[in-house]
Amino acid sequence: MEKTKKYKDLDERFFMPAFSRDMALVKGKGTIVWDAEGKEYIDCVAGIAVCSTGHCHPAVVKAICDQAHTLIHCSNLYYVPHQGDLAKKIVEITGMHKAFFSNSGAEATDGALKLARVRTGKKNYVAFIHGFHGRTVGSLAVTHKPAIREPFEPLGLKCSFVAYGDLEGLKKAVDTDTAGVLVEPIQGEAGVIIPPEGFMEGIREVCDSAGALMIVDEVQTGMGRTGKWLAIQHTRAVPDIVTLAKGIASGFPMGALIAREGLEFRKSEHGSTFAGGPLACAAALATIGVIEKILPDVSRKGERFRAGFAHYNPRVRGLMIGISVGEKCPEVQKRCMEQGVLVNCAADGNLRLVPPLIISDAEIDRAVGVINGALG
Ligand SMILES: *Cc1c(COP(=O)(O)O)cnc(C)c1O
Repeated sequence: MEKTKKYKDLDERFFMPAFSRDMALVKGKGTIVWDAEGKEYIDCVAGIAVCSTGHCHPAVVKAICDQAHTLIHCSNLYYVPHQGDLAKKIVEITGMHKAFFSNSGAEATDGALKLARVRTGKKNYVAFIHGFHGRTVGSLAVTHKPAIREPFEPLGLKCSFVAYGDLEGLKKAVDTDTAGVLVEPIQGEAGVIIPPEGFMEGIREVCDSAGALMIVDEVQTGMGRTGKWLAIQHTRAVPDIVTLAKGIASGFPMGALIAREGLEFRKSEHGSTFAGGPLACAAALATIGVIEKILPDVSRKGERFRAGFAHYNPRVRGLMIGISVGEKCPEVQKRCMEQGVLVNCAADGNLRLVPPLIISDAEIDRAVGVINGALG
């Protein structure tokens, strides 16, 4: 563990200890990653649903390198290479009207909060218990988990939290002062929690009757993760605003918000130095090109995982998979790692698998074998 120790020593001495970690990943190709000691893993974490096209997909690498040789940055004071093409593409695949870019999921949430505030003229928000929308001061205000939010209060935004799935509770919480309701179509950080049938359509109705905007956070579920471009497309609900990030650019930092017709930022209402830069947009366009080819296969691959875990009653939507494991989750994660498979424990003892969308059947079978061994 000599090489890992170098990472650990530097981290302990010079890096603020906000993360807990004990391994260093130094190389990746497709679904496989290597640690600093040269050990190989099937990566069912994928940077937490980020490396959608796998690690270092040649099309993404080429797009980033070509753009890096041409223009790395120019500012949104000017038209930006690839930005318009990407906005057009995202609007087409999601059925929304216009896009705006950010550098992360939390920033996309912040943008959505601002857009809802400025277009409705209302001030308050409603979100869901165990929901996660980011860690900036704005996005944290609508993120439920008291342990990460309360130390930073007051956060300046008024948000009430309702149980996920509880439409009656939502009706009581939403009123004429509600600018927006934020919801994940499947709760990711909470451990892949799938809401009851009709919940999204119900939220749409509640929002319509109160004049609030429905803001769907697809940072984790979007960009093909569940077998469609957006998880909300599995339902009949049409959102007002959708946020995207994680899987959008294969690991190049990027986020987006997209909105329906009539909802847009006007002059000077929002902006960002780096957001929607040439490299990020090139990476996202290449990512979408790859996902377009593999999207039809995502649901089938998810069902292959489901069949493999049939004993454990897994929650599966495409390649977003949750298994209730309980207290032994960290131990299961460790055993999988020893056997060469990376998995992740989300909240409440829920094992979460969000592998690259390019994962092969053979890799799924190998991963399932190891994970079942670790669970058993
Ligand atoms: C990860 C995540 C975010 C925050 O994204 P960052 O890029 O980490 O800021 C927001 N919403 C959801 C649903 C997420 O999974």
